[in-house]
Amino acid sequence: MMTRRPNVMIIISIVLAAALTAVAGWVMAQMREDALASARAAAFNMALLFERDTQRNFDVYALSLQSVIDTIDDPRLAELPADIRQNVLFDRSATAKNLGAILVANATGDVVFDSRASTPREVNVADRDYFIAQRDSPHTGLYVSRPFIPREGPADASIGLSRRLEKPDGSFAGVVVGTMRLDYFRRLMSGIEIGAHGAVALTLADGTLLMRRPYAPDLIGKSLADSALFQRFEREQEGGFFAIGPVDGVRRWFAFRRVDGYPLVFSVAVAAGDIYTEWRARAWIIGTLTVLLDVSLIALAVLLSRQLRRRELLEDELRALAGTDALTALANRRAFEARADHEWLRARRSGQALAVMMLDVDRFKPFNDRYGHAAGDGALAAVARAIGAHARRPADCAARYGGEEFVLMLPDTNAAQALAHAEKLRSAIETLDIPHADSPNNVLTASVGVASTSASSFESWRALVEAADAALYTAKRAGRNRVAVWQPSLAREPHGAGPDL
Ligand code: GH3
Ligand code: MG
Ligand code: MG
Repeated sequence: MMTRRPNVMIIISIVLAAALTAVAGWVMAQMREDALASARAAAFNMALLFERDTQRNFDVYALSLQSVIDTIDDPRLAELPADIRQNVLFDRSATAKNLGAILVANATGDVVFDSRASTPREVNVADRDYFIAQRDSPHTGLYVSRPFIPREGPADASIGLSRRLEKPDGSFAGVVVGTMRLDYFRRLMSGIEIGAHGAVALTLADGTLLMRRPYAPDLIGKSLADSALFQRFEREQEGGFFAIGPVDGVRRWFAFRRVDGYPLVFSVAVAAGDIYTEWRARAWIIGTLTVLLDVSLIALAVLLSRQLRRRELLEDELRALAGTDALTALANRRAFEARADHEWLRARRSGQALAVMMLDVDRFKPFNDRYGHAAGDGALAAVARAIGAHARRPADCAARYGGEEFVLMLPDTNAAQALAHAEKLRSAIETLDIPHADSPNNVLTASVGVASTSASSFESWRALVEAADAALYTAKRAGRNRVAVWQPSLAREPHGAGPDL
């Protein structure tokens, strides 16, 4: 008998493996989300810090310009010695490092005051955009210029913050401009950790690139206004999204922020590759471990189920062996009893007749004595084969009941049919022609007792077997080598005496 337990084990292991994989997948998806979330937060925070720092510096610078405007028209200024005038006009914050110089230019663009030198350099700024913007409109206000290379001093690109100077009648009197080296932004950007492929950019509101990390001097001053990325910055005050970098084509998460009060936009971008680098490494480990676990789990289940199946086969084999008689290969008495229980119940349910034959080899003791025990065994095996040949239907059961006694149970067989069948069997044994010098027939013969539930009712199969046994006794008494059918009259007769009676 084969159970389905081994397969169930494999199915359970597959379900477990699938659950394990699902859990691992969920954890990895969560970790991926977390990686993006923390990269976003970091990018936003950096953009915010850049904005705050820049705004504060620009505010200070704007105040310095305002103080120049407030002081420059004071007539007492002209009376001061040049160095004192310098200190009054330009406060110390204006000379902070990073910042360039504060210059005052007259209406024609000639520099008349210079925060860096008490004698102003001979420079004309009339062609600068911060000059033109202030000259052409009284409403320009604080103007942040496009990047330029200063004509004096260190030759690094700068931007200018300009305000308009006016005569009392409101006409153009010149500009005051504070220059700011773009290097200030470069240093601001350089300190932060944004991953190997991260990028930071500062642009003017019109899209002109002022500074970028990675540093790209060639790009400074170029306009990014046409890029889809910049157009997205323009639409919102602040935000974040995935996009392909316009400069290098790297896919990044962009966080951007406008500097409040100034036409400046900071964007901090973390490369998608960098965001997921660590996650990818962990996902590989978790994924590999999960697959290994899954495979081991299923392999273990397959191995166990195979072992189990082998064991069940062995058990089946042992069970069959335990129910088989070694000499005759027929069922043994125990196996017969189990079958008899089964067939008895079945016959009762179906109402069909059940017949039993008891067979005993005649004068077997003398046979043994004359021909030897081995020959006796051979004769028993031959008789058993003949009996087996007469149990042809699947439900028929032939068994060695003990010694040289056999039993045959035939479902759906009435007394007459059983008698005919028994007669054939008896004759078959006789025709085996096994010589037996101590038998009147000179060959080995057997006697058969038959009983069927068709002739009478029995309490149990044991009663039926007893009836067949009683009939066998009758056959022995009647001279052996014959068949006798049980009749109710036999029931009262004493029986069970030895075969020599
Ligand atoms: P009867 O015609 O009345 O049945 O006479 P019998 O000699 O057959 O009767 P009995 O029951 O006295 O003899 C049975 C003998 O069968 C005794 C035993 O030596 C022999 N026998 C029982 N089992 C085996 C066996 O497995 N092998 C052999 N060789 N002989 C067996
Ligand atoms: Mg006997
Ligand atoms: Mg006998």
